[in-house]
Amino acid sequence: MTFTRRVQNLKPEGAYAVLARAQELEAQGRPIIHLEIGQPDFQTFAHISEKGIEAIRSGHTKYNPPAGLPRLRQAIAEDAGRRRGVSFNPAQVVIGPGAKPGLFFPTLALVEAGDEVIYPDPGFPTYAAMIEIAGGVPVPVPLVEENAFSFDLKVFDARLSSRTRLIILNSPANPTGGVIPPADLEHIAAAAQEYDCWVISDEIYARLVYDGLQAPSIAALPGMDQRTILVDGFSKTYAMTGWRLGFGIMPESLAQRVELLLTHSVGCTATFTQMAGIEAILARQDLVDEVVVEYQRRRDRMVAGLNAIPGLHCQVPQGAFYVFPNVRSFGISSSELARRLLDEAGVAVLAGTDFGPYGEGYLRLCYATSPEKIERGLERLTQFFKEL
Ligand code: PLP
Repeated sequence: MTFTRRVQNLKPEGAYAVLARAQELEAQGRPIIHLEIGQPDFQTFAHISEKGIEAIRSGHTKYNPPAGLPRLRQAIAEDAGRRRGVSFNPAQVVIGPGAKPGLFFPTLALVEAGDEVIYPDPGFPTYAAMIEIAGGVPVPVPLVEENAFSFDLKVFDARLSSRTRLIILNSPANPTGGVIPPADLEHIAAAAQEYDCWVISDEIYARLVYDGLQAPSIAALPGMDQRTILVDGFSKTYAMTGWRLGFGIMPESLAQRVELLLTHSVGCTATFTQMAGIEAILARQDLVDEVVVEYQRRRDRMVAGLNAIPGLHCQVPQGAFYVFPNVRSFGISSSELARRLLDEAGVAVLAGTDFGPYGEGYLRLCYATSPEKIERGLERLTQFFKEL
């Protein structure tokens, strides 16, 4: 069978592929420690679930406007704006089933065939996929460990050109946990203005930042609200990955185009999911704060445990729920190491190269799992690397 060029290079996300293999092993009776998939291990907070259930019971099971419920758009404009020190109006907010449509549809609306798009490598695999589907030219810029996994700005400058249409940022980042510092954001913002490009700022992990820090948003820099698509959602902050709820905030004229793309693709986002989302934003936030404290504890344990393994080096990431240890000294490719860790030690992790070629020499481990599983995972990792 022949398929269009736009889908020929599509690959599964590494996390889903490893999860499938891990489940196969589990079906054969092998106990596996899951450190691969990037989702919170705790349940959606009960008050949020209750609102969703109540909404279904009271008949909120019909179509709603493609850009989302006005009340949710309003709540997001206020909440996301207040947290970043930017003033947004609800017409700029477009709701979608997850954060992914907020990445995908603006890319489709802005990138013509042949336009170049700069994106982080290692980075979330959807970036390269959506650039290719849009017919754009993916231009990866490495994230470097020495810069706490921010861009190498020299390479960034060298890869920027009059052909660049869009720059994709992700802070805090998947897979590295890195947070882009203010000076780098200012550099990138000045470049975007000079070259007249758009910026997608994927801030899905914005609330998961540790050590009392905050992740600054490029949207808050002067003039940047005119050329930034801020993407965030409910999946990570409120443990709502399966509810499918996210959003993009962008200039109104672009929001109208994205709304049309939603109209003709997904139609709209589930009404009861959005009603649960309103509750998530407007009700108590102390549970999110508690979870962040718990993630920080797990991060610290994970980093300490990994750094106790001779030959392995792991930075302390400032955000998200991933660690990205350097395993170069073992002289084995990341994908081979990840495969052997699963098959021989029963620990599911991702290869850095699942996030792009510049991820070679690293593994990604997710610590959004119970402290007991982290301990058992660390024991198995320690033993595995000792015998390597
Ligand atoms: N952006 C990043 C960086 C992610 O890691 C993820 C999910 O893993 C998403 C976007 C997608 O989020 P959602 O599940 O809300 O579509």
